[in-house]
Amino acid sequence: MTLLIEEERNEALFSWYQVEQRSFPWRGATDPYRILVSETMLQQTQASRVIPFYHRFVARLPTTASLAAADLQEVLGLWTGLGYNSRGLRLREAARKIEADGWPTTPEALIELPGVGPYTASAIASFAFGASVPAVDTNLRRVLSRWHGEPLNGSSLQTAAIASLGDPSSDWNQAMMDLGATTCVSKMPRCGVCPVKDWCSGPASYSPAPAQGRFEGSARQLRGAIVRSLVRGDAAFRDIVQQTGFPTVQVEMALADLMSEQLVNRDEGGVYRIAE
Ligand code: SF4
Repeated sequence: MTLLIEEERNEALFSWYQVEQRSFPWRGATDPYRILVSETMLQQTQASRVIPFYHRFVARLPTTASLAAADLQEVLGLWTGLGYNSRGLRLREAARKIEADGWPTTPEALIELPGVGPYTASAIASFAFGASVPAVDTNLRRVLSRWHGEPLNGSSLQTAAIASLGDPSSDWNQAMMDLGATTCVSKMPRCGVCPVKDWCSGPASYSPAPAQGRFEGSARQLRGAIVRSLVRGDAAFRDIVQQTGFPTVQVEMALADLMSEQLVNRDEGGVYRIAE
C-alpha cells in the first residue's frame, strides 16, 4: 500500500517536473567538476545570485586541474561578492585532492573532500555518477515532513528520503528541489496548485527556521569587505580599517579569523595579503 502511494506521488511529481522545471546553467550537467562548483556556490547563496559567478568561475577555471593550479588570489577574485569566501579555499583544496587521487564516486567517499557535506556528496553521486541516493537538504526536509505529517530529522529523515526516492534519482532530486523552491515554500506553500497535494498531509508539520541575522554591520559583511580589499592588493592594518570603515577591534577579530582559516596571511612587516 505504501509503495503504491510513493509510486503515484512520484509519477505526479515527475509529470509536473517535465513542464515546470527551472532552468539553470548547471542543470543537467553530468561533469562532476561543474556540479561540485555549482553546489558549493549554492551552499548559503540563492541560485539567482550564483548564476553570474558560476559562469565566470567555470569560464576561467574549467577543470579541477586549472583550479588546483590557481592562486588563491585568483580564486577569491572570482568568488568575492558571493560571500563565505572560505568556500573558495575549500573548493581549491578539493580540486587538489581530486587531482592527486582521482574522483571519488560514492557519497561515502565524496564526503571526504574538503568543503563537501552530506548533501553535496549525495548530489554529485546522483547527478554525475548515477548513484540511487536522495540529496537531503533543508528543502527536502521540509517537503518530506509535510508529506509524512511529522517533523523529520536525522535517521527518520534519511529513512523517509530513501523510501520516497524516485527513479532516476537525479530527476527526483531536482524535481524535489524545484517543488520546494517554487511551490512547497517555507512560508505560505501553494498547496492549491501543488502536483502532489493528494498524497500530502499538508503544511502544518513544518515550522520555518528563524530568519538569519542582519547582514549590514555584521562580521560576515566585514570579512567580505576585507577579502575584497585584499584581492585588489596587499594592505596594512590601518588601510584595511580605513577601507572597510569598521571599528579597529572588529577588524582585528575578523583578520584573526581569516588567518586561522588560512585565507589571509600577514608578513613580518605587518602587511596582509591573500594566502597562496
Ligand atoms: S500539498 Fe502543500 S504542503 Fe504538501 S507538498 Fe504540496 S505545497 Fe507542500
